[in-house]
Amino acid sequence: MVTGGLATDPSASGGGGVDTLPGMPVRATKRGNERTPLDGAHDVLICGASFAGLAIARELAGSRADVLIIDRYEIGERQTSACGIPTGWLRQLDLMDCECQRFDTLVMHTPHGDARYRLPWTFSTFDYRQLCQLLWADCDARFETAKVNGRAPAGNGDGSIAIETDRGVVSAPLVVDALGWRRVLASGDGCQPPDAPLSRGLEVHPDGVGDDLEIWIDRRYVPAGYGWSFPARDEMRIGIGSFDPRFHVKETTVLLTEDLGKEPNEYQGNWIPHKLRPATEGGVFFAGDSAGHCLPLSAEGIRTALYFGIGLGRELRGVVEGSQSREQAAATYAEFNDSHEWKFRWMLRVQKLIPKIPPRLLGPAIRLMGSKRFVNWSFEHYLNIAPPEFAEPGAVAAAPQDRVADAVGS
Ligand SMILES: Cc1cc2nc3c(=O)[nH]c(=O)nc-3n(C[C@H](O)[C@H](O)[C@H](O)COP(=O)(O)OP(=O)(O)OC[C@H]3O[C@@H](n4cnc5c(N)ncnc54)[C@H](O)[C@@H]3O)c2cc1C
Repeated sequence: MVTGGLATDPSASGGGGVDTLPGMPVRATKRGNERTPLDGAHDVLICGASFAGLAIARELAGSRADVLIIDRYEIGERQTSACGIPTGWLRQLDLMDCECQRFDTLVMHTPHGDARYRLPWTFSTFDYRQLCQLLWADCDARFETAKVNGRAPAGNGDGSIAIETDRGVVSAPLVVDALGWRRVLASGDGCQPPDAPLSRGLEVHPDGVGDDLEIWIDRRYVPAGYGWSFPARDEMRIGIGSFDPRFHVKETTVLLTEDLGKEPNEYQGNWIPHKLRPATEGGVFFAGDSAGHCLPLSAEGIRTALYFGIGLGRELRGVVEGSQSREQAAATYAEFNDSHEWKFRWMLRVQKLIPKIPPRLLGPAIRLMGSKRFVNWSFEHYLNIAPPEFAEPGAVAAAPQDRVADAVGS
């Protein structure tokens, strides 16, 4: 396919060409006269270069497809999370170099008692910028900085989809929205708080060290939700997540940070989806937060963005390599997405239940649930919603019978 009009800045293209680790990426943002118009037709257009978008581009590496990935920021520039993930995912994707700290226990605080859960698998914090660079180093796509405004009125009349950016219109027959919770490329108004099924999160990153991954379920901080402290080598990631989008989390983020003896700084926050959305719409594919792939209750959305991104990347690869049509890929990906719906629904039920438990019962309940048997059972099932083994080349999602076994807890 012909690629037209793209600026050819070597620092902005070809993930395989990145050789700047461990420093920051060469700035890709075009400024002033360098901000040339962006147009042209591609095989695959991935909008959003964070977890989901990069996972998709990585799956397409070596397919010889003309893949363009765009983001309003350069790759790895804007961290939007506490960057905690099961270590197995870092290991599976060969990303261990970006690990900051590893934890084999989770400390739960309630006003009526604490509990320390020994986890059956470890959890790690990582460096966002470095993780994105490592993923990008495995890609052979072209990257450009551009803000996506939405769908342009029409494609080329050849079934391709046109996308309007602040640098011009780009098109492709395969277009992915990996732009996060706004679901920019959906029809209608996309997804708007506070009415959409969104939680909200805010965190700060003071300097400091800690040994424990800690969670607070305490109405002093948030009526429905939780607070966290994730140490990451020489900084602490301290924040509050509210399942109710109307609850403003800034004041209590400050409160928790000060309770931990730290000064709040470097605020970063975002909306967090807690409900699965359609995986395809109007010919566009959605992955990560744009598809509601963030897990309810825990608000863990990084490994699921990687997981669904990999699943979608495999389907798109089938299309560019000629083994299936776009429609077949859309149907398979939608089925894959929907097969997880009941797991998300269950997690949402628990998310809604926990705030209803009287605080005096919560402490004993949290301690009861800390039995080794229960922790192993629940955390293994939780990991299996998006297991790291799925990233192995050629791996397939759990078969329906396994999903039923999961459901009955065998
Ligand atoms: C405070 C907080 C802490 C969190 N902590 C964790 C955690 O520790 N572990 C975990 O698993 N999850 C965590 N999450 C959730 C997690 O951050 C998200 O689920 C995850 O980032 C989703 O990845 P994504 O690739 O779908 O979208 P995003 O990471 O949101 O990436 C979207 C990309 O699209 C780009 N973009 C957006 N709009 C446009 C546009 N119009 N034009 C061009 N580019 C655009 C953005 O620049 C960005 O690069 C946290 C969330 C919050 C708010």
